[in-house]
This record gives sequence, structure tokens and C-alpha cells, in this order.
Amino acid sequence: MSESDCIFCKIVAGTIPCTKIYEDEKVLAFLDIGPISEGHTLVITKEHFTKMDKCNSETLSAVVSVLPRITAAVSQAMQADGYNVLCNNGRAAGQLVEHIHFHIIPRKTGDGVFGRWPSFEYPQGKARELAEKICAKL
Ligand code: 5GP
Ligand code: ZN
Repeated sequence: MSESDCIFCKIVAGTIPCTKIYEDEKVLAFLDIGPISEGHTLVITKEHFTKMDKCNSETLSAVVSVLPRITAAVSQAMQADGYNVLCNNGRAAGQLVEHIHFHIIPRKTGDGVFGRWPSFEYPQGKARELAEKICAKL
């Protein structure tokens, strides 16, 4: 998806409407059009970056720095018991809109919106091996 076809860039430009929650120089927040709970909010960079590792730290910091305020407002207004903050990166991780965004998903106790994800245990030595691979890329 190129920048010119990007739905979120069109929302930033005002050519596609949104239900706006918050805006500043670098950040826009609006209600998700397909919510998984009431108040499900998207917080996006105004500038187009496909995903987190393509975004510069200044812009990412601008988004992250407003998350406490927006998560507090969303969860208080929805009388949520908790909330998830999700950032899907890449198709394999469920990212459909290739413009970096954080989902804020208000949650109620026992709402069943997400279950626990399946987990497994590393065999002996595997965790260290993987950590070394990752560290080599830092
Ligand atoms: P992703 O799967 O990429 O992490 O999530 C993209 C989200 O964007 C989805 O939850 C979807 O409902 C939302 N979305 C897609 N198009 C629009 C739109 O035009 N307006 C709004 N407000 N949300 C959208
Ligand atoms: Zn975009």
C-alpha cells in the first residue's frame, strides 16, 4: 500500500472523515470504524510510516507520550476495568492498514474479547541462543 492509497493518510488529510478524539502537531487519535469494544480508539502518527521499525524515534516518542492521557480518557469514559494497547506490525502480525497505529481497546472483566495467547516453554539453551541472535542485530 503506497502513501497515496493509505486510508490513514487520507484521514489525516481530511479527505476521509473520522470521529476525532485528539490531535496535535504529530499525532491524531480517532475511533476505530470496526471496534472490538466500545471506545476502541486508534492513535496514529500524522506522517506516514508503515510500521514501528520504520518510524523515527522522535515521531514514535510523540505518539507514545500521549498514550497515558488518551488511555486514561478512553478507559475512564468507558468505565473500563482495563485496556489493551496493541500495535500490529506486518501482515503476519495482523496489520491490515500499513500506517503505524496503536489500538486502545477498553476491557471489562470477563468480556471475552481476547483469550490468553497460546504459550510454550523453550528447551534447554534455546532462550540464550535466541537472545544472542537478537543482540547481534541491535
Ligand atoms: P490493523 O489490523 O491494521 O492493526 O488495524 C486497522 C484498524 O483500522 C482496524 O481495526 C479497522 O477497523 C480500522 N480502520 C480501517 N479503515 C478505517 C477507516 O476508514 N476509519 C477508521 N476510523 N478506522 C478504520
Ligand atoms: Zn499513511
